[in-house]
Amino acid sequence: MSEIYDVIVIGAGPAGYPAAIRAGQNKLKVACVDEWQNFDGTYAFGGTCLNAGCIPSKALLESSELFQRAKEEFSVHGIKIGDLKLDLAAMQKRRASIVKTMTGGITALFKANGVVGIQGHGRLLPGNRVLVTGKDGAEKTLAAKHVVLASGSVPIRLKNVPHDGKFIVDSWNALEFDAVPARLGVIGAGVIGLELGSVWRRLGSEVTVIEALDTFLPIADQTIAKEALRHFKKQGLDIKLGAKVSSAKVANAKVEGATAAGAHATAVDVVYTDAQGEHTLQVDKLVVAVGRKPFTAGLLAEGTGVSLDDRGFIKVDDHCRTGVANVWAVGDVVRGPMLAHKGKEEGVMVADLIAGHFAEVNYKVIPSVIYTQPEIAWVGQTEEGVKASGRAYKVGTFPFAASGRARAMEAAQGMAKIVSAQDDDEVLGIHVIGPMAGELIGEAVLAMEYSASTEDIQRTMHAHPTLSEAIHEAALAVDKKAIDSINR
Ligand code: FAD
Ligand code: NAD
Repeated sequence: MSEIYDVIVIGAGPAGYPAAIRAGQNKLKVACVDEWQNFDGTYAFGGTCLNAGCIPSKALLESSELFQRAKEEFSVHGIKIGDLKLDLAAMQKRRASIVKTMTGGITALFKANGVVGIQGHGRLLPGNRVLVTGKDGAEKTLAAKHVVLASGSVPIRLKNVPHDGKFIVDSWNALEFDAVPARLGVIGAGVIGLELGSVWRRLGSEVTVIEALDTFLPIADQTIAKEALRHFKKQGLDIKLGAKVSSAKVANAKVEGATAAGAHATAVDVVYTDAQGEHTLQVDKLVVAVGRKPFTAGLLAEGTGVSLDDRGFIKVDDHCRTGVANVWAVGDVVRGPMLAHKGKEEGVMVADLIAGHFAEVNYKVIPSVIYTQPEIAWVGQTEEGVKASGRAYKVGTFPFAASGRARAMEAAQGMAKIVSAQDDDEVLGIHVIGPMAGELIGEAVLAMEYSASTEDIQRTMHAHPTLSEAIHEAALAVDKKAIDSINR
């Protein structure tokens, strides 16, 4: 006999678990089914983000940045330290412990909000029923008035670059290295390539990033992207643009156990082509970070009526309805940027719509953050995008070199940039490269959510000395009224 729920969510990543929690808050009877298994075989809620993405990567970015600063910056502050040593095992233990705390937190949140968490595989059957295959292989069928599909995404693999999880790896493997690779290759200079490339560079790897496109970070404002490329090159990231990998193979499997200090036995031979011709690169580990694809394997039984687009995403409308009555889909498995916060807002929206409340997601105001050093963050349109739209615009920038707080932090790199409409002064895009850019962008998101004009930001008092003054000054610079930098 079927158990009957108001809502069953398949997937407990950052799109699925908030949907389940909000459904519980809306007094609906809800279950959330998730099959995530870690390398040690344990089940955990939280999906890619908590187990193998946002959280472990940020833990390592923080640790590796501290290591780097201790090495190069402490002496500038007049702090002398002795022999600096890396304890990678301790660093990785901290990363694992943060992940465990955060994923365990979801179990507690489920309990507090009346969500039944089920560990196992969920398969949508026709008629809004879900076949659940538990850890032990036991099957049961649950019925629900509404089903929310939140099955997420997986890394894209390249045909001639065979993944083995040891030498040719994906981002998850690269977060769990137990030794610093002497030579690290990364295919793809996107968000993952830059964040993970930065981690291992700071910890001592020689890092080569191979990017197929000629343009660096084409999704970002190009003033910011150019500034970023300059910094990354200075940090020693060897970024090769316009370079296409044709193949990679593990040349000598006996390198097992080799360390940065150990024998430089060949691990992976990479062949790529750029404008100069064909090249071979030898690295100890090769990370493939060429994007992710929606994951729907085993999710949809015959006859559910849910359809996929030509790239494998579940088709949905602006309210995440699949077109099949009471079946919804949210997060990485549907169109739009693959970002945890975008999935979270979709999950919450759907749970509120199911409960009969008003809800919507503002897809025009989705922040992006790249957690490199300097950090990069933006919201809204790039200058190139506005230009292409034909709308007349004005631009203001403020360099962190003129920020007292950034100077005090020894982080006076980068800038804040605002692009506004010439006609009605509406803020169209805010772009930051510099210290804590990911935190600074919060103000920009709120301003744009409320359709702020540049003048609104100009007339808003910002505490001194703070990094947020850069946003204030960039807004003033839009109308050539900046106080702390020369107006151009
Ligand atoms: P997922 O997190 O992929 O979760 C889907 C869950 O569903 C998984 O647990 C999966 O096992 C489960 N599942 C799938 N099918 C079934 C089934 N049939 N039955 C049961 N369970 C199923 N985004 C950010 O916004 N900020 C960041 O800093 C950031 N850093 C990242 C770093 C890395 C290295 C990576 C790889 C990604 C990062 N992302 C980041 C992207 C972010 O992780 C994703 O956008 C987010 O996890 C998507 O959430 P989701 O819930 O849609 O899917
Ligand atoms: P991405 O789309 O950001 O970057 C992939 C890069 O690989 C692109 O620059 C692309 O041109 C390049 N590429 C593709 N095929 C190639 C090939 N054959 N050879 C060389 N280069 C190639 O994807 P990603 O970095 O893998 O990240 C996946 C997703 O995870 C992204 O959608 C991102 O939003 C999300 N993510 C977000 C964060 C964050 O918000 N800070 C961090 C990590 C990941």
